[in-house]
Amino acid sequence: MIAEVIVDILNSNVDKIFDYKMQTQATYGVGSRVLVPFAGRNIDGYIINIKEQSLLDDSKLKSIIKPLDTQPVLSQKMVQLCFFMKEKFYLRLADTIRLFLPPQVRGGAKAKVVKYATITPEADISKISKRSTSQLALMLYLEQNAQEQVPVLNNKFGSQALKKLVELGFVKIDEQKVLRKPTNALSIKQKNITLTNHQQKAVEIISNSRYNTFLLHGVTGSGKTEVYIECIKNALKQGKTAIMLVPEISLTPQMLTRFRNAFGDTVAILHSMLSSGERYDEWYRLKNGDAKIAIGARSCIFAPLENIGIIVVDEEHDTSYFSESNPRYYTHEVARYLGYVNDCPVILGSATPSIHSYYNAQIGAYKLINLPNRANDKPLPSMQIVDMLSEIRNGNTGIFSGALLNYLKDCIDQNKQAMLFINRRGYASYMMCKECGYVAKCTDCDVSLVYHKEDNMLKCHYCNKRYRMLTACPQCHSQYIKYGAVGTQQIVEALQQAFPNTLILRLDNDTTQNKNSYVEILEKFNNTTPAILVGTQMIAKGHDFNNVTLVGIIDADLSLHFSDFRATERTFQLITQVAGRAGRSEFEGRVVLQTYFPKHYVYRCATNYDYPAFYRKEINLREIAHFPPFTKILRVLISGEDEQKVIDVSRNISNSLQQLKKEYASDFVYLQAMKCPKKRIQNKYRYQILTRYYTKNDKEITTKIYETCSRNTTQKVSIFVENNPQNLS
Ligand code: ADP
Ligand code: ZN
Ligand code: ZN
Repeated sequence: MIAEVIVDILNSNVDKIFDYKMQTQATYGVGSRVLVPFAGRNIDGYIINIKEQSLLDDSKLKSIIKPLDTQPVLSQKMVQLCFFMKEKFYLRLADTIRLFLPPQVRGGAKAKVVKYATITPEADISKISKRSTSQLALMLYLEQNAQEQVPVLNNKFGSQALKKLVELGFVKIDEQKVLRKPTNALSIKQKNITLTNHQQKAVEIISNSRYNTFLLHGVTGSGKTEVYIECIKNALKQGKTAIMLVPEISLTPQMLTRFRNAFGDTVAILHSMLSSGERYDEWYRLKNGDAKIAIGARSCIFAPLENIGIIVVDEEHDTSYFSESNPRYYTHEVARYLGYVNDCPVILGSATPSIHSYYNAQIGAYKLINLPNRANDKPLPSMQIVDMLSEIRNGNTGIFSGALLNYLKDCIDQNKQAMLFINRRGYASYMMCKECGYVAKCTDCDVSLVYHKEDNMLKCHYCNKRYRMLTACPQCHSQYIKYGAVGTQQIVEALQQAFPNTLILRLDNDTTQNKNSYVEILEKFNNTTPAILVGTQMIAKGHDFNNVTLVGIIDADLSLHFSDFRATERTFQLITQVAGRAGRSEFEGRVVLQTYFPKHYVYRCATNYDYPAFYRKEINLREIAHFPPFTKILRVLISGEDEQKVIDVSRNISNSLQQLKKEYASDFVYLQAMKCPKKRIQNKYRYQILTRYYTKNDKEITTKIYETCSRNTTQKVSIFVENNPQNLS
């Protein structure tokens, strides 16, 4: 018998399958990790197929040396999924296989014994000299993570630091895993819940279905999570397993506690705040069947589960479901394929579905299920739009409008809580006149221009057109041009001045560098009234605080001016999500939305919670402007250290695609080769070919583009493809 093997080599641009002879009566098969001779050494490989004969001459074939595990590491379905991803996203099989396996399982023919370092009770950080910075850093790391693999620590802090700490008796090293610190979780009361009629109906439809994609559109607080939990319970009752995906940012302690309460130890959680050892433990519990539910961010779709009964993609509109580095894929497609091979339902849930998904529901590709009301029947908080231009005209140039300040005062007087939201990602990404509201946009693409500091130019990220930097407003000649945005820190400062006796907390990337501080901030907020929590998108999702009666959106326009055709969609989503944090319990909620464009349809629709109206407006604009879902944007990204080689490959691909465009003249809207906005990353030059074409012949055209890429692949230049990229950096 002959095994087709994918060898696990890094840095190979060639995706090749090699034939190896199998031992007679081999104890391994498809999905097994095996040791094979390759280019003069022995390396890991994965068997992806077994066949009778090779096309190669028998004398040229080498033999598999031995299997590396007692069980296959990949199931037949996983191998199938690897092939699907290769075809769909133009990926190398070796890269797709890696997605399924934690680093501990892969990695050469290395011994499987992993050494762990654990902090000891004797450890005393004050006894370490201030100058031994690596030792101090290592101790702090272990204090937070309790335990870590020795190679990981040596990599991070150098082997000397660990050696010294072991000598001091502050750290001990074991080969066996010791019990890890239990995951931190907020203390929340367990509620007894009877599903509402809408929830009940949704669960029935989904749980009785075989493979199908459901778009669960439920307003914030409508009880989508309860629907997921119930559907998962039903799957478990049938002896099946479940995968639940959540954006990293929404994997809040509250959410995890809810699942722990419902399912106990059958839940395995895979997220980035776990140490690599903890992640491996969770992976292993799923693999050996101790855990049956995998909850985690995007990559959790590759959890080692068999016999899957339900797949949930929560907050399905979230951009984190697009993988933007190699391997590049769109999680929904992977989830749906996995649903298809397991013949089980897939739920895409959101209060604000992506326009693309809602469109799919409109044309019947997905099945739409609505949860129109909050589970507790409380009204959604009322939203008020504040025109910041008129604030300026009235002499208020501060961060807060008069209305917001007054509501903050009331909120504090009534011993309640407020959340203030600012989207920091918008930093310097648009230029706007403070007097008249003019925003610099690309004349060809109607998207906001991005300020590039290095060459002091404004650029369009869609067509790469360049414009001179503004010194005065072209519309009203004012010189008050605003760019960038106030950050969370400035807001905290301003609040502290205005309300010196109130607890003001900040939740963003800077304040949550370690996992404890994240929980601590939320716990502190949860336990204090009055209090104000200022934050980025981190506060937008998943939180369920009973005392929050006021939500302030400091600069709603920030996301509106992203240089992306989905900017308006994002704005609608953010406002709805943030607003959904207010008035979740018996106290009524209020939302103040500060904007320079009070008349924009996105605000009218968002403040009325009118998703269908927003969808209709938006889908019309997309159709007129030839944007997805009516077209597909496909980017070919070419990168390498030798710029000339990169240019040559780009030119060749571009020439072929120009031919293709002639062949499919009525399908193509756009085709252009150019440097990437980020011209060089990690020493590699980056060029791109942007294409946009109608979806009628999508499959045919995409396949031809992939073939062109394959033909032009060389060792020195990497070619990547992105389907409907979220970000064109
Ligand atoms: P979503 O995920 O749609 O935002 P959740 O599932 O988080 O909504 O539910 C919002 C709140 O309503 C939670 O506190 C939840 O415990 C509660 N809830 C959900 N369903 C019910 C129900 N049927 N009866 C009572 N409370 C419910
Ligand atoms: Zn443009
Ligand atoms: Zn102006």
